Amino acid sequence: MKILDGKIIRDEILARLKTEFAKFPTPSRLAVIQIGECDDSTAYIRQKKIFADKIGATIEHIKFPENCSSEEIIEKIGVLNADNGVHGIIVQLSLPKDFNTDEIIEAINPNKDIDGLTAKNLRRFLVGDLDGLIPATARGILRLLDYYQIPIAGQRATIIGRSLLVGKPAALALLARGATVTICHRQTKNLAAIAKEADILITAAGQNNLVGKEFVSSGQTVIDVGNDVDSVAVKDMVGALTPTPGGVGPMTVACLFENLLKARIIKSLK
Ligand code: ADP
Repeated sequence: MKILDGKIIRDEILARLKTEFAKFPTPSRLAVIQIGECDDSTAYIRQKKIFADKIGATIEHIKFPENCSSEEIIEKIGVLNADNGVHGIIVQLSLPKDFNTDEIIEAINPNKDIDGLTAKNLRRFLVGDLDGLIPATARGILRLLDYYQIPIAGQRATIIGRSLLVGKPAALALLARGATVTICHRQTKNLAAIAKEADILITAAGQNNLVGKEFVSSGQTVIDVGNDVDSVAVKDMVGALTPTPGGVGPMTVACLFENLLKARIIKSLK
């Protein structure tokens, strides 16, 4: 079985971004808005900061308490939209349940929307254009597959999970590249049998050990986004597998900063 190491590619992207960001006269700034104190979100933001430091970009971590209002956040986004020194804006998802996620995301200027979640960017992505700002995990998955020369066009790709940030974008990205895509979720019947049929299996369910040997088949490529795969059980069966950690995670962070570069270029072209 081949291990699909995301750290090697991350380091290549890191070196390229460092060179590219150094060409701008001012630092590239990414604003990250966090609402509440979810441990996972704090850990993801820490990873972003580490990467930003290495490429010479700046992260402005803006924290709001869980009892703040959607209006306060939207107002802050307005200020960041108007600030020419801010090139990217992220709202760290998922939000505590009382917040209107759609309304908050939609307040972001699409040219600064480096998670690729505003309607304008999602529409472009839905059409099948992969050159815009698309969610970083989807881009990371494509980069991983391309680096290891795993074909996508004409292959059967199955995604377990339909979240807006991961499952659906992964499906759209593979579809745009010509895969025949199946999306599975909590209501899917015969999940293991469907997963087994795939040439490329992408798991984004967030359920440890959901994917055991009855889900996989020989020669299959397995991309474990949600730490769902029982790697000990499947390792002698599959053709290729991403490790956790060290697979999709580092790719996602690197691709997020590729989007920051893209956002900055959009801006300097104007
Ligand atoms: P993420 O943001 O990592 O994608 P979410 O918790 O938002 O995580 O989404 C989890 C997704 O995984 C949902 O679409 C859900 O339907 C799917 N899922 C969770 N558990 C299972 C399961 N046991 N079988 C199939 N799909 C599942």
